[in-house]
Amino acid sequence: MTSLFISDLHLDSSRPAILTQFLDFLAGDAARADALYILGDLFESWVGDDDADPAQRAATAGLRTLTAGGVSCFVMHGNRDFLLGPRFAADSGAELLPDPVILTLYGRRLLVMHGDALCTDDAAYQRLRATVRDPDWQRRFLALPAKARRSLADAARSGSRAHTAALDEAIADVNADSVATVLRTAGTDTLLHGHTHRPAIHALEVDGRERTRIVLGDWYEQGSVLSFSAAGYALRTLARSGTPE
Ligand code: MN
Repeated sequence: MTSLFISDLHLDSSRPAILTQFLDFLAGDAARADALYILGDLFESWVGDDDADPAQRAATAGLRTLTAGGVSCFVMHGNRDFLLGPRFAADSGAELLPDPVILTLYGRRLLVMHGDALCTDDAAYQRLRATVRDPDWQRRFLALPAKARRSLADAARSGSRAHTAALDEAIADVNADSVATVLRTAGTDTLLHGHTHRPAIHALEVDGRERTRIVLGDWYEQGSVLSFSAAGYALRTLARSGTPE
């Protein structure tokens, strides 16, 4: 009995190797699991459920096969695919998760987030995040024709690339006080997130209690997966062939 967590695949038609690895993973490890959790940025961009590219449709179909086979799948919004909506959920058979969310798995409480909300040293990004997560903004954006949404998203992505390139390494990472605050508020000892593309298991102390922050890696060069079972957890790298390294 295992639950698997992945994030930051950034799938689109420009990266066929990641799609292949993801589909292999769905048909292999994921098909044997109890549940698959995707913690944001499954897709490189998503401007509405009516505008998936062929790779994104193939990934959605792969999720549909997984869920139809009896594996529960949960998808959280990332900063790239925060517009994943009800039609994607219906097409994939996945359930959309709020961010943050507290999960209880095998008797252990986990605070789960995409992770971008923890990067509070990047004030410009947090302002943008507040704007695009606003339901009114999203309604207005989704009312635009797909072509207009796509060009706005492309412009936003080049802006974001320039912004990230100019950022100091430390500013692009999570803020330690924000991590402590969310753990304290949730009352959990374990935080799991992606987004920063810095896979690691960090030990930290908050209010005199030992806590753990688990960071999933991205799928650009290889896969990254956390397996979680009653016996504990393991963060693994999947070689591009789809086999564990
Ligand atoms: Mn992200």
